[in-house]
Amino acid sequence: MKSNQPFVVGITGGIGSGKSTAAKFFEELGVPVYNSDLRAKAIQNENSEVKVKIIEIFGEEAYNENGLNKPFLAKQVFQNNEKLKILNSIVHPAVFNDFENWKNAQKVSIVMKEAAILIESGSYKGCDVVISVIVDKETRITRTIERDGLSREEILARIKNQISDEERIEKSDFIIDNNGDLAHLKNEVEQTLIKIKKMIS
Ligand code: ATP
Repeated sequence: MKSNQPFVVGITGGIGSGKSTAAKFFEELGVPVYNSDLRAKAIQNENSEVKVKIIEIFGEEAYNENGLNKPFLAKQVFQNNEKLKILNSIVHPAVFNDFENWKNAQKVSIVMKEAAILIESGSYKGCDVVISVIVDKETRITRTIERDGLSREEILARIKNQISDEERIEKSDFIIDNNGDLAHLKNEVEQTLIKIKKMIS
């Protein structure tokens, strides 16, 4: 374990699992949270090296007056796994470096990296421990419908596109059960943080 650097806790979970809500509870308990999805978006809009590479591969249409042209890019990589791999090979290392810089600037012993694709991107390998937030499929669907107004079919399609909970669990050191209410989730977070603190003390 690296004693001079913060201990890195990765947190992930499928669509609507509650990982952002759980991460917010960790933050309230003093654990700074790096939101990989938000940072990835910002990096694609702001990092000139990344922008040049994206334009090289996808053309000028990859950006418009509002920044990254997400619908265009999504269309390009949808059903073209090679292009998706190329895009990931541009964005993931940049996010990795950005996280390292952020982490090294934190003056705490534990930090959290939140990512929807923590396992898929391989970035879980840079975490000291991994937490997966797990919820029954029907509860995830109900909560996501309430949050996003998506149809049941759209959510099922997204779930199908993500890795399974079994695969997540296999790579995880801790599981947070989010089938209960928010007080239950908060308690799960508190108990998990106690265990992590014990691990590093
Ligand atoms: P995504 O990857 O889709 O962005 P997420 O895993 O970050 O999702 P959240 O946004 O944290 O999930 O939670 C999904 C929705 O469910 C939110 O509207 C959140 O407020 C709600 N929610 C989360 N946990 C609970 C809970 N225990 N009880 C009731 N609602 C919850």
